[in-house]
Amino acid sequence: MALPPIRPLDDLTIARIAAGEVVERPSSVVKELIENSLDAGATDVRVEVQAGGRRLIRVADDGTGIPADQVSLAFQKHATSKIRSSADLERVATLGFRGEALASIASVCHVTLVTRARDEPTGTRIRIDNGQVLAREPVGAAVGTVITAENLFNAVPARLKFLRNEATEAGHIHDVVVRYALAYPERRFLLVGNGRPLFQSPGTGELEDTLIAAFGIDVARQMLTIQVDPPPAPRIAADADDDEAVARVRVRGYVGPPHVHRATRRHVTLFVNGRWVHDTHLGYAVAQAYHTLIPKGRHPVAVVMIEVPPAAVDVNVHPAKTEVRFRDGRPVFAAVQRAVRAAVVGQAPVAPMADDDAPPPSWPARGAGRLALFPGFKAPPPPRGISPWPTAEASTAAPAEAEAGRQATFLDRAGRRLPVLRVIGQLAQMYVLAEGPEGLYLVDQHAAHERVMYERFMARRAPLASQPLLVPEPVALDRLQLGAVEEHAGAFADLGFDVEPFGPDAVVVRALPEVLVPTSDVAALVRTVIDATAEGGAPVHDSFEARLVRAVCKQATVKAGQTLTLEEMRSLVRDLEDCQSPRTCPHGRPTMIVLTADRLFREFGRG
Ligand code: ADP
Ligand code: MG
Repeated sequence: MALPPIRPLDDLTIARIAAGEVVERPSSVVKELIENSLDAGATDVRVEVQAGGRRLIRVADDGTGIPADQVSLAFQKHATSKIRSSADLERVATLGFRGEALASIASVCHVTLVTRARDEPTGTRIRIDNGQVLAREPVGAAVGTVITAENLFNAVPARLKFLRNEATEAGHIHDVVVRYALAYPERRFLLVGNGRPLFQSPGTGELEDTLIAAFGIDVARQMLTIQVDPPPAPRIAADADDDEAVARVRVRGYVGPPHVHRATRRHVTLFVNGRWVHDTHLGYAVAQAYHTLIPKGRHPVAVVMIEVPPAAVDVNVHPAKTEVRFRDGRPVFAAVQRAVRAAVVGQAPVAPMADDDAPPPSWPARGAGRLALFPGFKAPPPPRGISPWPTAEASTAAPAEAEAGRQATFLDRAGRRLPVLRVIGQLAQMYVLAEGPEGLYLVDQHAAHERVMYERFMARRAPLASQPLLVPEPVALDRLQLGAVEEHAGAFADLGFDVEPFGPDAVVVRALPEVLVPTSDVAALVRTVIDATAEGGAPVHDSFEARLVRAVCKQATVKAGQTLTLEEMRSLVRDLEDCQSPRTCPHGRPTMIVLTADRLFREFGRG
């Protein structure tokens, strides 16, 4: 049988094949758009997504914008403003340079771009649907660029099939935004998902602020900074060359102390010359630095930024540029391992002690010259009054050890983990305002409520109260969902679900946890809860039960509504004070932030 005749592919097909390599899933679109914003010098990058990015991804920046006469070119494949010839590849300093991202993205969804260049009086809007330009017109717009990508992969069903559920995709997007926020603390990042703010970095250039936003205050306080100049290894003649090469590698960043460890490698994040990369070798270099310090099979938390001369690295090995090839990897490996080890061994606190007067041990003393992490990064004054309480989930030490540690060291003198707060009101039906020893506390009432419920449910002695439905309801589930219900029938029952298999692809729901009743849509609720237990996005990897409890808490909180009386607010804050880890919600987001009296003083010009 003869093959059909050879024919060139049409442009859209070519673009879609290329897109397959750049745009794997919604988070890759987010990554490319963020990189473009950073390349354009943006100081403010706002990411908005709906339905895990499938419905909508919007990235808005205040960068240079695109001149009107170049807007169409931006969407042509291999059109870029960042390099001119292959010679430039040797010294590429931008995150993009292949000129493929916009062309690829526009070939697999509906794109609207609004942009205005700094020195032009008006902006341009262009709409492209699956590779087809629909409209182009001048519009009034602020300087900068807003790109909206809608209905990703709708016209490419083959790719749609590979997407995971919304929560998983949203989790990947969250990861991307947080990582870039960490690598660029001097830029502001905001992530909004389904209309709710999920993450925000202040862009102060102060790493502490971004760390808190990313990891929650408890973990952030414990992170150790990698010193910029780790002590050089003793020079042995044979390795002098290597040493010189190592010296040209700059390693910065921060790493968790040995007692904070995780079940997966996902929490080691690597950047090479400002670009987020995946590299097994470098990941291994980080892990090696913890050798003997953390249990076998567990992984550290680390964000490591590596800088090498551009010519020493070839990032052009993969279209998404997430892989990196070093001309000579050994010195880079050695430098990373040495720097991380120095940080871990040199600064790791023996045990976090709560002491009102001394700075928490994880923050190096001021003026010790250790914090020249980023240019312009100043050592934050050690926070007063707040002690480094690790969260129960954050320190995943053996339970007995963790328990002992908690009692011995993590309680302050009054046995409280939070200072006493005086509720003064509510803001935007979302935040409880309270006065405390440090200043003004803003408590996210949803997050706080989730935390309180989560700890109660986890500590329960008996199964959770269950409420039978008036009419049992059949709920169709997909294979993954059904699998979760079957595998963890005990956990579901224990939390008050009465769910039984019902044919090959459904269950019948007879009862729900009382906290979730009444509900208008049993099927949607059950599916949401099951999906939320799927891995991905959760900052901590733990038991199915804990994930299920978190999912139930989340739904229960959503149901709980938003207007609170003063008494309700007081009781919420009191309940929060009683929690083991009051400072983060079970999903790891902060429950509260503090506007310190110092800060207020400074802001009002009295500091
Ligand atoms: P690359 O980033 O590899 O150059 P892209 O397809 O991502 O390729 O973008 C094409 C060009 O469009 C870029 O080179 C840049 O000039 C312009 N561009 C894209 N996004 C932005 C943005 N947010 N702000 C300013 N210019 C942008
Ligand atoms: Mg780009």
